[in-house]
Amino acid sequence: MASQPQNDVIAAVATAPGRGGIGVVRVSGPDLAALAAAVVGKTPAPRHATYAHFRDATGTILDEGIALYFPAPHSFTGEDVLELQGHGGPQVLQLVLERCLELGARVAQPGEFSRRAFLNDKLDLAQAESIADLIDAQSREAARSAMRSLTGEFSARIRELVDALIHLRMLVEATLDFPEEDIDFLARADAFGQLDAIEGRLAGVLGQARQGALLREGLSVVLIGQPNVGKSSLLNALAGHEAAIVTEIAGTTRDALREAIQIDGIPLHVTDTAGLRETADTVEALGIARTWQAVEHADVALLLVDAGHGVGASEAAIIARLPPIPRLTVHNKIDLAGEPARISGDEVWLSAKAGAGLDLLRRRLCELAGWQATGEGVFMARRRHLAALVEAGERLAHARTAWPALDLFAEELRLAQLALNSITGEFGADDLLGEIFSRFCIGK
Ligand code: GDP
Ligand code: ZN
Repeated sequence: MASQPQNDVIAAVATAPGRGGIGVVRVSGPDLAALAAAVVGKTPAPRHATYAHFRDATGTILDEGIALYFPAPHSFTGEDVLELQGHGGPQVLQLVLERCLELGARVAQPGEFSRRAFLNDKLDLAQAESIADLIDAQSREAARSAMRSLTGEFSARIRELVDALIHLRMLVEATLDFPEEDIDFLARADAFGQLDAIEGRLAGVLGQARQGALLREGLSVVLIGQPNVGKSSLLNALAGHEAAIVTEIAGTTRDALREAIQIDGIPLHVTDTAGLRETADTVEALGIARTWQAVEHADVALLLVDAGHGVGASEAAIIARLPPIPRLTVHNKIDLAGEPARISGDEVWLSAKAGAGLDLLRRRLCELAGWQATGEGVFMARRRHLAALVEAGERLAHARTAWPALDLFAEELRLAQLALNSITGEFGADDLLGEIFSRFCIGK
């Protein structure tokens, strides 16, 4: 593993900030029997729900609730874990937490429980990341695919690939070590056939991971259109409820609705370019600069026009500055123009208000995003995972061209394996771990 497990005691409120029915203080460390006994009167029976009073140093009751004690190694972190489930108020939870700190614990850093679980081999890195992704999931589909990664399906597919690579590497290294065995030996063992098979499976995993990344990251859409063409109405219609204020006064809404809008579970990040115009006002100029930044990173541009009019000069000016991304022209208000809902190439005719044609737009956006709504086997994946899978693919391609230089061939296979290993965290670098776990919420 990457570094030595730490052995101090950490504690945190594990439930969300604010008030709730119950709140949980979670403690993890090498030896919690004494700490547990000091708070709840006696060391709770392992893995049993123990009703108890949580007391301060003078014996005053701070709260009452359930104490759960998981001695190492059968716990989430692999260390002793104590969970104190009390009432979900910020002050009372703080009192219980402070009692634990008094008894030698320190406040856990974000993600520190998961980090310890990883360092103690309870989870691999991809699984640990999927905990954060499950908590942050913006749609049911995203939550389901994060769960699939958490149970280890994604990691298992990566390990299968690694195993196949190791098998092939052993074959090649054996040939290198015993030069009397020659290339014919590899040909008989079908080294190239094995490479083909690995590449095919890698492509499959990459496809599923890309789908998962889409669920995680969402689709960035730039909305271009004159005031009053129906941008807010379209967003509301896609969101399925009144998420933005629609008014008849031009220029009253410029808000992006972001996470409220999903298509097939894909979160849509919408950047409204309605406010993009030349200005002398510095604050407004800053906002405009930020909007252009979002435009730079967009996946798709939606150009909204009134079905009775068409594309004008101000839209053309924005289009001219767009990065080369797919663009759809949406002719809105067909109910007024008396046109039927339809789609033709990259143009859609619909009515945001009446709802006609919305499905056509949804389906086209999914196609542009590369989403295949199979729902099956989608793994929650991060950019980091995609980059590693792509790198592994490139290494395999290099290996192919290196043939018949066996030492180069073997080296590329080794690098491909290294890339795959980084996904599950084998041989992970410490700075990578810090980067990953620091983005968790406290108490995870
Ligand atoms: P925005 O300024 O581009 O965001 O436009 P809004 O969404 O605020 O809509 C401006 C006006 O057009 C509102 O009165 C909407 O009710 C109306 N509107 C939007 N879409 C349609 C549509 O498809 N048909 C009709 N008849 N009116 C629409
Ligand atoms: Zn609007």
